[in-house]
Amino acid sequence: MFEALSSKLNGVFDKLRRRGALTDADVQEALREVRVALLEADVALPVVKDITTKVRDRAVGQEVLRSVSPAQQVIKIVNDCLVEALGGGEGDTGARGLDLNAPSPVPILMVGLQGSGKTTTSGKIALRLKNRDKKKVLLASLDVHRPAAQLQLETLAKQVGVASLPIIAGQTPLQIAERAMDLGRRELFDVVILDTAGRLAIDVVLMAEVAAVKAATHPHETLLVVDAMTGQDAVNTARAFQDTVGVTGIVMTRIDGDARGGAALSMRAVTGAPIKLLGAGEKLDALEDFHPDRIASRILGMGDIVSLVERAAETIDQADAEKMAARMQKGQFTLEDYASQLKQIGKMGSLSGILGMLPGVGKIKQQLEGANLDTTILKRQAAIIGSMTVKERRVPDLIKASRKRRIAAGSGATVQEVNRLLKQFDEMSAMMKRMSKLGQKGMMRGGLA
Ligand code: GDP
Repeated sequence: MFEALSSKLNGVFDKLRRRGALTDADVQEALREVRVALLEADVALPVVKDITTKVRDRAVGQEVLRSVSPAQQVIKIVNDCLVEALGGGEGDTGARGLDLNAPSPVPILMVGLQGSGKTTTSGKIALRLKNRDKKKVLLASLDVHRPAAQLQLETLAKQVGVASLPIIAGQTPLQIAERAMDLGRRELFDVVILDTAGRLAIDVVLMAEVAAVKAATHPHETLLVVDAMTGQDAVNTARAFQDTVGVTGIVMTRIDGDARGGAALSMRAVTGAPIKLLGAGEKLDALEDFHPDRIASRILGMGDIVSLVERAAETIDQADAEKMAARMQKGQFTLEDYASQLKQIGKMGSLSGILGMLPGVGKIKQQLEGANLDTTILKRQAAIIGSMTVKERRVPDLIKASRKRRIAAGSGATVQEVNRLLKQFDEMSAMMKRMSKLGQKGMMRGGLA
């Protein structure tokens, strides 16, 4: 998400930076380009107007043009305005996690259109509450319209490792909701997640059903799940749900896709409801907190190192990492270590998602994606290493033609792929040996930093 917008805005800022001293006309021209970039990203018109007016007022008010680094000032002002549009504000990063501050069991109502990712998100939230917040979670599907829906949630609950409400055929959504809350109270659950039936489109009857469930269960959070890929429609859906049901927060899914991002920028201004969480993939751990300041940084190509480090800390085992670093320093890095590194990176989610968090990578990312950059490469390499014997992994020099053929056949790869992996590994170990010889200072001189 935001790739096109990010590269357009960066183009505008690059031009400003090259100018050095700026005239009023330069800033006006830049603003016009910012406006076009926002419109092309599908940001709602009133929001575009609001952002550009604010930028203009502040750029004038702060005497940007006479400052030491005018371009930097303009970028800072655009950044601040984006943070505000995304729901953050001065001294307030805008990050809004789920609010569970209520007597147990805390009911969370999940609403949204069919296919928006509502059920998947219910599972993701359950997993996070269980692992991170140590909560006892009950999942219940109120979807009596789609026959497989309740079973889908039951399967998901098993995958996540939380309880799901036993299915009783023939019950109404209201009866199911009441039974879920009842079980929640009796068995001392901390949180009960109620997944309502999806609608294909805004539908008065089904909306009334959600409203009735809401009135009966008094959910502490009513989370609307919207698909970022649907752009302005996501914003219209949100407005309709906000007007008829009332929501406490929005979860935007499929931000891992190539959505233009306008919906995220328009949501707060148009609906008044904050985006609380982001769905960044099909996997159950692909759930992110929504931080307006970090998203603005990503849009402006300044990266999001904080989220990257957090993600790494969540997925990479510290002790393992230290052991591996020590082996690297001693020049003892083997294919086994490499395989375990591949696994750790794979756990962090899609490579393009990770790259998007690095500053300045936006531009080269598109080229890299052309080169088929995704986790399947990691998986293939891990499979190739998996087909080697322990001895081969420790002493890769043993791997000659016939062994290569065997390894390729065993992992469904070609001999060329095996060769490529071995060559890459050779280069890596050579580099590590150089690094360990040169030490920290030498490493910088060696051009690695
Ligand atoms: P529901 O009808 O709203 O309950 O939608 P589901 O939860 O069944 O999701 C529909 C499809 O979207 C499934 O194939 C999910 O794996 C997929 N999905 C859900 N969230 C995300 C996301 O954040 N990113 C991606 N790429 N796919 C998602």
